Amino acid sequence: MIGALPTGHDRPRILGRYDTGRPGLALVVVVGIHGNEPAGVTAIGRVLDTLARRGVPVRGSVVAVLGNRAALAARRRFLHQDLNRMWTREAVAQVRATGASADGGERGEQRELLATLDQLLAPPRSDVVVVDLHSTSAPGPPFACFSDTLSSRAVARATELPLILGLEEAIGGTLLDYLEDLARPAVLVEGGQHDDPTSVLHLEGTVWRILVRTGLLDAAAVPDFPEHEARLAAAVRGLPRVVEVVYRHAIADADRFRMRPGLGSFRAVRRGDVLADDRRGPVAAPVSGLLLMPLYQEQGNDGFFLGRPVRRSWLSVSRIVRTLRADRLLPSLPGIARDPDRPHRLLVDTRVARWFPRQAFHLAGFRQLPPRDGKLVFTRRVET
Ligand SMILES: [Zn+2]
Repeated sequence: MIGALPTGHDRPRILGRYDTGRPGLALVVVVGIHGNEPAGVTAIGRVLDTLARRGVPVRGSVVAVLGNRAALAARRRFLHQDLNRMWTREAVAQVRATGASADGGERGEQRELLATLDQLLAPPRSDVVVVDLHSTSAPGPPFACFSDTLSSRAVARATELPLILGLEEAIGGTLLDYLEDLARPAVLVEGGQHDDPTSVLHLEGTVWRILVRTGLLDAAAVPDFPEHEARLAAAVRGLPRVVEVVYRHAIADADRFRMRPGLGSFRAVRRGDVLADDRRGPVAAPVSGLLLMPLYQEQGNDGFFLGRPVRRSWLSVSRIVRTLRADRLLPSLPGIARDPDRPHRLLVDTRVARWFPRQAFHLAGFRQLPPRDGKLVFTRRVET
């Protein structure tokens, strides 16, 4: 059971916990990893409050973990470094290898968060699911991102929101990367614009959906579940169910990047449409597609993303390909070789395997890494 949630700067790393001792799934909800995204904090507070007030007999437990506490207090995305870009294998190993005295800015936040997650995800626990709640600077409907392993996909589908594939691959170093390395199922949910009260409702409703769809509780135990369902359904009506990211517009502070006003996520744009301006002049869409997460805030290194709808059948086909482990045949194809040092990686010589699209590797459960020696590099995602 939980007590009243503190609201000041002294909030503990573990914001709240609800557990009635019944066996089941442990849901770990991370909120506020970006300090200017308080909607997730409010949303999980409401869920924990409702559970405690009604004494709901959950099968399993819910734990809420605070991300960037100092940035939340300052209401900034981050103070020195984006806490959701610091989770590459190398960066995490470095935090573990150095003492706390080496910490400055977000490093201290990461060390504490890592220690908390270590506890919550420690083996032999095999029944933990992580949900990471966010909001965006631009207006837009709620959606879900995940590292495309079959186990994370199952959780992402429980949200019943539009699913965005490859966002974490385009960015790199997000908490999702770290969780994928640990083979932990996880999903990131974007609720809408930062300070829009509807974003809180979207995130709250999505957490209820996950709780119900993963069997922690019955829909009847949630007082306003039908209202949440109706609101979420209306928010995503007409949107594609699955979208694959095909382009990321990376920016640096010196670019003086400014989105043109009035653009939101899922807006259809054509190649050549001017979307923003920077110090070099107008910034046009390099391909046609759906605009995702246009940046309308000072901090951040992703100007915007472009995505394309993927047929829903793609998910079923890819599940079959992966279950059969058809990827074992890939290295026998011309131009594709196993990395001699890391056998789960494939090196693709595009002069030979020119016909082989990136999507085929995604289908088979691989993610792309930066190219090496002129070859494309793909690594197989870790399945639970
Ligand atoms: Zn965020």
